[in-house]
Amino acid sequence: MEKLYEGKAKVIYKTEEEDKVIVFFKDSATAFDATKRAEIEGKGVINNTISSLLFELLEKSGIKTHYIKKISDREMLVWRAKRFDLEVVVRNITAGSLCKRLGLEEGLELKPPLVEFFYKNDQLHDPLVCVEHIRLLNLAEDWQVQSMKEMALKTNQVLKEFFKGHGLLLVDFKLEFGILPDGSLAVIDEISPDTCRLWDAKTGEKLDKDRFRFDLGDLMEGYRRVLEKIQGG
Ligand code: C5P
Repeated sequence: MEKLYEGKAKVIYKTEEEDKVIVFFKDSATAFDATKRAEIEGKGVINNTISSLLFELLEKSGIKTHYIKKISDREMLVWRAKRFDLEVVVRNITAGSLCKRLGLEEGLELKPPLVEFFYKNDQLHDPLVCVEHIRLLNLAEDWQVQSMKEMALKTNQVLKEFFKGHGLLLVDFKLEFGILPDGSLAVIDEISPDTCRLWDAKTGEKLDKDRFRFDLGDLMEGYRRVLEKIQGG
């Protein structure tokens, strides 16, 4: 298969159809601008499983995504998209870079949820940007920014309720957006414990990539617990 693009955690391959590509989930874990790296056996399989399940949930809830189907342990078939160089973060509870940037304590409830945009640029370390910056850099049209914000908030509503029903708190998460071959704006990339903060609703235990970032415990154990919970275990 011809490789189109290789990122830190995934590879994108061409298919025989021009408008469809395959997302392959690797076992690589990176953090802090890839200064911390590891290979974690089985991570790709679990992230593909969780991502597929969550994309199916979004599709059922009327949120457009690039997802077509899961085709193997590590592969998902998706619509080819023209990606925006933006990361859209939604936060329900303070954590991570928000606490660092604004000097906030971790664990405070955010009502309404907070939406932030980051410029996807490794050299600049993905800076926080406002609508005016997005306009200045020509990263997206104003109406697209507005639509991304609305879709991100709707996604938050769906995911938050879903996780809550399975004993998990959705603290925050990152989405990426793109334009599909039919011209529609859609959620692309992945949605997994690599891109979401998820805490056990009873114990507060962190089950996401913060385990790797801050050496809080076995990463795969956390990810497996997330999968077991959302599969109803
Ligand atoms: O680091 P920060 O607190 O801004 O991250 C917010 C959320 O976005 C977290 O769930 C984190 O895992 C996710 N994120 C991501 N990819 C990035 C930056 C953040 O998935 N490049």
